[in-house]
Amino acid sequence: MKAFAYVNPTNEKDAVAALGPERDRDRVMLLGGGQDLLARMKDYISQPDRVVNVKNALDATIAPTPDGGLKIGAAVRIVDLAENAQVQKLYPSLVAAAGEVGTPQIRNSGTVGGNINQRPRCWYFRNEEFNCFKKGGDRCFAPAGENQFHAIFGSGPTHIVHPSSLAVPAVAYGAKFRLVGPSGERIVDAAEYFTMPTMQNVKTENVLAADEVFTHIILPAPGNVKHGHYEVRFKASHDWPIAFATVVLAMNGGTIGSARVVMGAVAPVPWRAQAAERALAGKRIDEATAAEAAIAALEGARPMSQNNYKVQVAKTAVKRAILQAGGIKTA
Ligand SMILES: Cc1cc2nc3c(=O)[nH]c(=O)nc-3n(C[C@H](O)[C@H](O)[C@H](O)COP(=O)(O)OP(=O)(O)OC[C@H]3O[C@@H](n4cnc5c(N)ncnc54)[C@H](O)[C@@H]3O)c2cc1C
Repeated sequence: MKAFAYVNPTNEKDAVAALGPERDRDRVMLLGGGQDLLARMKDYISQPDRVVNVKNALDATIAPTPDGGLKIGAAVRIVDLAENAQVQKLYPSLVAAAGEVGTPQIRNSGTVGGNINQRPRCWYFRNEEFNCFKKGGDRCFAPAGENQFHAIFGSGPTHIVHPSSLAVPAVAYGAKFRLVGPSGERIVDAAEYFTMPTMQNVKTENVLAADEVFTHIILPAPGNVKHGHYEVRFKASHDWPIAFATVVLAMNGGTIGSARVVMGAVAPVPWRAQAAERALAGKRIDEATAAEAAIAALEGARPMSQNNYKVQVAKTAVKRAILQAGGIKTA
């Protein structure tokens, strides 16, 4: 590992100050639990000159907001999120996602801020030998290579899937993210935080600026909603899901008033399936409705040579998440 300077700020302002004056995300990096960053550093994928530990600087609490929602600090550990009684009561799909992240050890040290901002798990990005777009190279190796775990939505230039399990329910619940930089705070919709790759913006996955720190997830009061979250893995292993879905259904009596359907591990961002949301509006939750919405969710998928199977897996995840929301038992 390359030698680096280590900074240990104890408040938000000092954490932001510790990012300057370089404002260069390749040279200065934030450290949460280190589950992702330290692995990248050991593999020579990331070689910062300075590492800024934010665990002692950022909020590590979960607190109610005046409107009945919750504000979750970036330094909260994933295990504490999963075990928090208020989160369990208000946002069960977020708890389900948190509880399935990796292993107990990963959940014990991984933070909410680190999970949302973790870098892609693409094996070309993670391998020093492949100089892909994300590392300043001139191509994405997935289309002509081993692409079984890559995106089935989007048209490049990179084909990563977003790795964060927490990001998907955050978008489904309509969360906002609080970011802090040298000129103060800004609040961004979770759905607007994650960015599809473009040639101008190929090395990053979100709108966080090089001089900003991610500080909170702010969740609105859920209201009268039903929730479902379903993840599919190769087996009951500790690996990332192949595809998963969160659905949040705002009920209007016995029918769905409006729906948010978001899929994970299928695109470079948490993928909102608006065709499925339209298909659900005004319907009762049953097997036929769930199946129809699941088909709609996968409209427009563009699988590559080895990941066509993900279309069916994602469809199943959406269908089962909807049925789960309706309290209907799945196989
Ligand atoms: C075997 C295995 C299985 C896993 N399975 C899953 C899974 O199913 N689902 C899932 O979501 N994850 C999974 N993970 C990933 C793991 O959950 C994440 O690596 C972890 O949550 C990252 O949290 P951290 O605090 O350790 O992040 P760190 O490694 O400290 O940081 C991750 C990245 O975020 C940046 N960062 C950290 N904090 C901030 C902040 N406050 N503001 C801005 N940027 C910040 C860092 O600079 C770094 O680039 C798995 C990991 C392993 C090893």
